[in-house]
Amino acid sequence: MIPRFNQRWLLTARPQGHVRESDFTWNESALEALEDGQILVRTVHLSIDPTNRLWMNEADSYLPAMPLGSVMRGSGIGVVEGSRNSRFVPGDVVQGLTGWQRYAVSDGRGFAKLPPLPVPFTAYLGALGHIGITAFFGLLDIGKPKAGETLVVSAGAGAVGSLVGQIGKIKGCRVVGIAGSEDKCRWMRDKLGFDAVINYRIENLPEAIRRHCPEGIDIYFDNVGGKILEVAMDHLAMRARIVACGMISQYNATDMHSPVNLATLIVKRARIEGFLCLDYYDRSMEAIGEIVEWLSAGKLHYRVDLMDGLENAPKALNRLFDGSNLGKMVVRVSEEPAAASQAQTYPQYPLN
Ligand code: NDP
Repeated sequence: MIPRFNQRWLLTARPQGHVRESDFTWNESALEALEDGQILVRTVHLSIDPTNRLWMNEADSYLPAMPLGSVMRGSGIGVVEGSRNSRFVPGDVVQGLTGWQRYAVSDGRGFAKLPPLPVPFTAYLGALGHIGITAFFGLLDIGKPKAGETLVVSAGAGAVGSLVGQIGKIKGCRVVGIAGSEDKCRWMRDKLGFDAVINYRIENLPEAIRRHCPEGIDIYFDNVGGKILEVAMDHLAMRARIVACGMISQYNATDMHSPVNLATLIVKRARIEGFLCLDYYDRSMEAIGEIVEWLSAGKLHYRVDLMDGLENAPKALNRLFDGSNLGKMVVRVSEEPAAASQAQTYPQYPLN
């Protein structure tokens, strides 16, 4: 039976600096009967990503800006509960732009059925989803690592960064991870096998990079931008590659910090290249295939920071910016499909 009410977070103000809960409005509204071609998706998990913050701005990003008053944009995983669309049947597990809401009504465009892989549900929003694709192609296609090279990754204990560092190890690099807490540094060193770690909040970053990268940085995988990017650029090796993946330190900034040392690129014959995971979606199975193998072989680890309740989505978003998230940030909106049916299609094995 189609549920009668929806619960949603609407974007009703543009954040100035850090996101505040008052930038959103909690809304409860009736759900209409489905029209021809539509599906009703019950959101199970919401992916909370730094890019959510960019989408709240007035200016377009790689997607058009959201009008004020619209449901907060977000990607998620859900279960089809009603369908008048021949591509979907009730019970299908799908991924797409569900938005920050309990139920999404859609014409099905942008929703894909998930392949039945032997992994926990949340993996589809992390290592086996856009996060894995970002780490895999960002490092291998843009960074082009060679065995013996020094790879430095910022936000190295985060969702993308932790995979980048581990893939770098698999490819034979010396990996230096930068993160903002002792717990994160311990995890990168002891569990993920990084060769060296730097806590940028308490260490002198230039001095630590000089110590850990005596021959300079061959690949800098940048997740944060700003001052950390600038320091990394001061320590590039000849023909270094900077992978411009994200600049989270700038997403809330009202006063942006751009590196002042771009001329280093000339002196070091270095290159900086940006990319979006969307560019690689048609090759996603290349990445997923390898990542599944590495996970099963125990060569890759990840953690998921699961917060319960749609009402907590704004708080979850802010965790990415104060650094309190430990791994891929996910909000659980509703229960996963019944254990029995899920166990058949998604038998779980330990990934952490
Ligand atoms: P993470 O899991 O890495 O969480 C974000 C982390 O960023 C925080 O835990 C915090 O870690 C760090 N951080 C936050 N603010 C700052 C700051 N001011 N200075 C330094 N570090 C900061 O998130 P994701 O893995 O989802 O995303 C990482 C980056 O990758 C983001 O920039 C994101 O935009 C980008 N991205 C790009 C994609 C693409 O297609 N190009 C796709 C997906 C993500 P700490 O405690 O170490 O400070």
